[in-house]
This record gives sequence, C-alpha cells and structure tokens, in this order.
Amino acid sequence: MEETLKILVVNNDEVDRMAVIVALTQADSYIELHEVSEINKALIALRSSKFDCILINNCLTDQDGLNSIHKLHSSEIKVPLVIISDQGNEQIAVELIKAGATDYIPKSKLSSETLVQTLRSAIRLYRAETEAASANQKLKESYEQLLHQNQELEKQRQQIQLQNLKLLEASRLKSQFLATISHELRTPMNAIIGFSQILLRPKFAQLTNQQTDMVERILNNGKHLLMLLNEVLDFSKLESGNLEIKPEIFDLSTIVNKTVEEIRSLAEAKKLSLELKIDLQNKLIFNDPVRVHQILINLLSNAVKFTENGGICVKVKETPGNQVTISIEDTGIGISPGDFEHIFEAFRQVDQGISRKYPGTGLGLAIIDSLVKTMGGKIFLESQLDVGSIFTIELPRKVILSPNSSFNFGGDGLYYSTNNHLPSTSIFSKYFMEYPNLKP
Ligand code: ADP
Repeated sequence: MEETLKILVVNNDEVDRMAVIVALTQADSYIELHEVSEINKALIALRSSKFDCILINNCLTDQDGLNSIHKLHSSEIKVPLVIISDQGNEQIAVELIKAGATDYIPKSKLSSETLVQTLRSAIRLYRAETEAASANQKLKESYEQLLHQNQELEKQRQQIQLQNLKLLEASRLKSQFLATISHELRTPMNAIIGFSQILLRPKFAQLTNQQTDMVERILNNGKHLLMLLNEVLDFSKLESGNLEIKPEIFDLSTIVNKTVEEIRSLAEAKKLSLELKIDLQNKLIFNDPVRVHQILINLLSNAVKFTENGGICVKVKETPGNQVTISIEDTGIGISPGDFEHIFEAFRQVDQGISRKYPGTGLGLAIIDSLVKTMGGKIFLESQLDVGSIFTIELPRKVILSPNSSFNFGGDGLYYSTNNHLPSTSIFSKYFMEYPNLKP
C-alpha cells in the first residue's frame, strides 16, 4: 500500500493555491494536504506538525522564492522542498536547487501527474540523501573513534616499550650485581678453603681430633659455598652472553673418573653405592674439560642429593654418529613428567617451599641445559616418581660451534664464546622420556 504523504502547500494567491490542491487531490488519493498563504505561517505549521514535503506554489517573485528557502533552512526544520516557479528558465532552477530546494517545476510544465511524480521523487531523494548523510556522519564518528583508539594504542605501545627498556636495564644491572658480588665473594672463600687445607696438613699444624673435625667442616662448607657462588656467577655470565667454552682434546674417561671420585665421599656418607662403567674405544674428545666436569659434578651431586636408598650408576659409551653419551642413573625420589620441562628453567625446583628438604639454588640444570646446547648436544631425561631418574647427556666427540658463536684465537689456544643471552629452555637440547626400565 502506498504511503500517505502529508504536504504543506504555501502560496499567497488563493486561486493558484486552490488549483494546485485540486490537481493533487485528483491525481493521488494518498496525499494529505495543508495550506498556508505565506512562509511565516508555514514555519508555524512546520513547528507544530511533521510534514513529508513543502510545496511552494510560487506567484512570489524569484527573490521571494530564495528568501523562503533561506528562512526554512535557518529555522533548522528538515523537510524536502519543491518549488513551482512562474519563470521557466534553467538559471532560476539552478539557483533554487543551490539554495537548498529539493526540486523545481516550471509553472508551464505543471500537470497533476508531474506534480505528484515530482513530489514523490523529491521525498524519496530527500530521504535517501538524509540516510546517506547520517551514514556518513556515523562513518565519520567511528573513524574519529578509531583514530582516537589508535592514538591511545600508540601511547600504550610507547609506554610498554619504555617499561621494556627499564626492565632490560634493571635485569642487566641485576646480572652485573650478581656477577660482581659472586666474584667478590669468591676471593675470601678461596682464602678460607686454602687456609683450612693448610691447617689440615699434618706437618703444618698439630690439631686435636676435635679441631681437625672443625677445620674439615670449615673446608667442606667453604667448598659447598664456593660451588654455589660459581653457579650464580655462571648464571649471570650466561645471561649476559659471556659464558666461555674453551675446547681442547682430552681423555673423557679421566674426567669422569675424577668427578666420580670427588663425589664418592658424599655417596658413602649416605650409604649409597656408586658405580662407574666406561665403555669407550676412543677416549679422546674435543670439548671444554672444565665445563664437562661442571656438567658431571652437577648431575652427580643432584643424584646423591635426591637419593636416600640404593645407589648411583654412571655409564659412558660411544653412540652412532661419532657421539659419546654419559648417563647418570639414580634410585632416588624421581621426577613427575609434568615437572620435566620446568626443572631446566633457572631457579625452578620441584619443591619451591622455604622449608624444602633439599637445598640448592635451582640453577644447576639451567646451566647444564645451556652448556649442552652450546656444545651441540642433547639431554635425555627418563624418570619415575619414587623409582629414580636417568639423566643422559649426548655430546658430539668434537664440539659443534654454532653459527652464532664467535671465535678468538688467543694466546691460550682456541677460545669459544657463546652468544646465548639467557639460559635456554628450548626443547633443542632436551628429549624427555618416561622411565621405561626401572620398576618399583
Ligand atoms: P638444585 O639442585 O640446586 O635445586 P637444579 O637445577 O640442579 O637445582 O635442579 C632443579 C630441580 O630438579 C631440583 O630442585 C629437583 O627438584 C629436580 N632434580 C634434579 N635432579 C634430580 C634427580 N636426580 N632426582 C630428582 N629430582 C631432581
């Protein structure tokens, strides 16, 4: 059904006005007409009621027509406006449209059909324009909103960047502090260890049994403290990318033997067995003996620390691809698979409580992980809670120097520095397996 249009006819000539009204009523029954004789009365009518269109039937002069349009526009009343003009020239049409009229009909072309057609299409056009304008306005608003959000985001990005820089600086200072403090503490610690060793020499001092016991305790605790300090120092070096690897050719079996013997007294103190099985055709490898020793001592200390009954077995053998593997098996508390990944992160321990049973910094495995990765090796972990653990290190017989590493041929031979900035937790060096062999 066609929409009924409410039209306001404005004309100061009553005859003309009647003619237009009659023409419109005859042509379209869906038109509701209201009439006024002048523009001021039209304004009053427009303020009190809503119209779909105004038809100014103009026996006013052209100037009056333009003024009427301006008056309507300045009144802020939004309604389409159609003008019937006495003159039929194009120039007047252009001016009226420019001033804001929606359409224009020369009186000469006036008929019932053209009148209705023009009114309906003027209303359609006006509504379409209004809708387009409101859509445009909405677009403009959302564009401005987006612009504002973008500015906010940019501000936040800059703030995050600033925070990041501050965090990096704080972390650098922390590493530097750790490095300095552990380095400084090592000097007096070495003196404590050195002098207690001298005191224990029989030809140097005649100590009673009780005194010997006390000096031995000083020595052992000093060594333990030195180990902790070395871990912190290594960790801070790893963080700043300054951990060095100095490879040379050495006998792997000698290093493993020496390390096992170093740990034997600890194992005996806990009544644990400590076995070593070396099966090597070629005992020589090209690696950093100090770092290999460090890896072994850490793994062996952990094995002793986390085992209460049974024992530890160290196996060394050759594996295909010119690799050597060292595995350290224990019958200790074991590790649940959910903790496999975490224990290789710095400061992470399965038991993080203050009152934990087993002491330690939580740095050992993080350092081992980084060292093994730097050497181009892999770590395998098999473990089961309350059964035991096997940590296996697979190393190339000759260390592989990664493309990120830098070489210096200094006085002391080949010098190798890693560019790792953080202890790695990447899966590259670790392969985890659940414990397949040991049964409770
Ligand atoms: P720390 O021994 O100083 O705590 P590590 O980095 O060497 O630090 O080890 C991290 C954690 O991994 C230990 O706290 C322990 O929870 C677990 N862990 C390491 N080795 C063993 C092991 N042989 N048996 C059981 N748990 C172990």
